[in-house]
Amino acid sequence: MLLTDSFKRVVSQADCEAVYDAPMREYTSFKVGGNADLLITPNSEQVLSGILRAARAIGVPVTIIGNGSNLLVSDNGVRGVVIRTAGGLLDLRCEGNFIHCAAGVSLKRVCLAALEHSLTGLEFAYGIPASVGGALYMNAGAYCGEMKDVVFSARYINEELAPEEAALPDLQLSYRHSVFSGSECVITSVTLRLERGDAAAIREKMDDFMGRRKEKQPLEFPSAGSTFKRPEGHFAGALIDQCGLKGFAVGGAQVSEKHAGFIINRGGATAEDILRLIEHVKATVYAEKGVMLEPEVRMLGF
Ligand SMILES: Cc1cc2nc3c(=O)[nH]c(=O)nc-3n(C[C@H](O)[C@H](O)[C@H](O)COP(=O)(O)OP(=O)(O)OC[C@H]3O[C@@H](n4cnc5c(N)ncnc54)[C@H](O)[C@@H]3O)c2cc1C
Repeated sequence: MLLTDSFKRVVSQADCEAVYDAPMREYTSFKVGGNADLLITPNSEQVLSGILRAARAIGVPVTIIGNGSNLLVSDNGVRGVVIRTAGGLLDLRCEGNFIHCAAGVSLKRVCLAALEHSLTGLEFAYGIPASVGGALYMNAGAYCGEMKDVVFSARYINEELAPEEAALPDLQLSYRHSVFSGSECVITSVTLRLERGDAAAIREKMDDFMGRRKEKQPLEFPSAGSTFKRPEGHFAGALIDQCGLKGFAVGGAQVSEKHAGFIINRGGATAEDILRLIEHVKATVYAEKGVMLEPEVRMLGF
């Protein structure tokens, strides 16, 4: 990939962290994948915008990531520039019932801010290891809650590289889908609208959800959460379990013994191992149950 000298100069003068040949395993929860040619963590929306323009000018492909908790990166890595919002776009401001968050802020931090201000509605998100931008992109959800319930509006850079703002109805949020799915838009900030609540009750709910996660999910191993979307009328984990696939492994990738809906990296897995295991699980569940599972995990660099 040709990262020209003039592009590198723009990067070196920008307020951002830039890592050439960045090992993507260090930026993703699965802990697999090869190197990105260049990984940039911009410190402001303005810097992000400048990098996008410079990359567009020389035709370098750009990939956006948040906290990397829903990604499977190819063993060959990612060509071009990866822009990471987590670690860079970190402003957070509470104003009445609203919380304004830059895209890279972690959901955990927003949940704790909501608790501090006795704001209720976001408890479901406590324990989802996401950036706010990634959570909006995926319409992340758990325990009968989803981002759709709490998002008021979002700011983003559109495909023409112009800043734009959209209110909830225009975000087209549905199960693990948003208006941004498959687009080249970059979410830069999200405003949430919550309700006044009782801090003790909010804390209790957050602790309950976190306790359930620790009990049910294989949090001691690297993963990307639920590997597959929930098929209509079924639960992916239950179908996989019924097919006797709990514990089934390909190389270092394994269907979790604790929760069949999770594929884990039990140590030394490659992206190829994980991909082959995903294909095996899909084929087996389809053959035995007639249900075609669709990965929820986003593939990068394949
Ligand atoms: C242990 C564990 C538990 C999990 N539990 C849940 C759960 O309960 N519910 C749930 O829904 N998910 C869960 N997940 C999956 C994951 O946390 C969510 O999908 C989350 O929304 C991903 O956010 P992220 O910031 O890590 O995004 P990434 O994984 O970095 O990216 C995900 C997608 O969003 C895009 N994206 C990210 N940021 C932006 C941006 N600013 N602008 C444009 N596009 C962007 C990326 O291009 C990519 O396509 C879990 C994962 C793990 C590892």
